[in-house]
Amino acid sequence: MTTKAKQIRSHCPNCGPARYANVLFEHKATATDEDTGVWETITSYMLECGGCKTVFFQENFVFSEDIGPDGPDIRIAYYPAPAKRKRPDWFTLFDLEDSGLYDLLNETYNALNVDARVLAATGARTIFDRASELLKIDPALTFGQKLDELQAKGHISSSERAHLDILTDAGGAAAHRGWKPKPGQLDTIMSIVESFIHRKFVLESEVKRLKAQLPRRQKRKKKT
Ligand SMILES: [Zn+2]
Repeated sequence: MTTKAKQIRSHCPNCGPARYANVLFEHKATATDEDTGVWETITSYMLECGGCKTVFFQENFVFSEDIGPDGPDIRIAYYPAPAKRKRPDWFTLFDLEDSGLYDLLNETYNALNVDARVLAATGARTIFDRASELLKIDPALTFGQKLDELQAKGHISSSERAHLDILTDAGGAAAHRGWKPKPGQLDTIMSIVESFIHRKFVLESEVKRLKAQLPRRQKRKKKT
């Protein structure tokens, strides 16, 4: 006789939210403060996605002071986090050629992996800052002035300026206005910063290399 594994709904890093997952292991730990009676419980699950068989982790945190009339307010964390983003193929120090830029991108991807979304949003803005400095824009300027300069020097188009304006505003909202972006919103922020970095620091050198490798055009004889 086979026993059917217990299943819960969880966020598979591969398939997305609300997937049935087999519970491979479950661990519950409670800590109580003897003086106040305040307690917290952490239930940890090692899970296997019922669809793609990926193994991942979920942690449910319940705090006694968070229990309202509708029951406990469970804070759920997933490892890897739903905000996790695949590093693009061009994300190498060889392609980027600047270790400062590489490190900032790397730290931002790491923040996404552990669901540190506010840090990831401010990280995306810092990546833009470093990139504009590499493009010889004065670091002392405001974000708006940097965008103006980038456009005036022909580094970005007006539509890209509009996208980058949202990116810097989102970074400011996360850093100073208490905004915590949702995974889908962070995805958009990362798409904006990645496309800017890719075009200015990876694609441009690839295009230069390709141009040098093409056979030269024959000059057409002028008709007389
Ligand atoms: Zn899955």
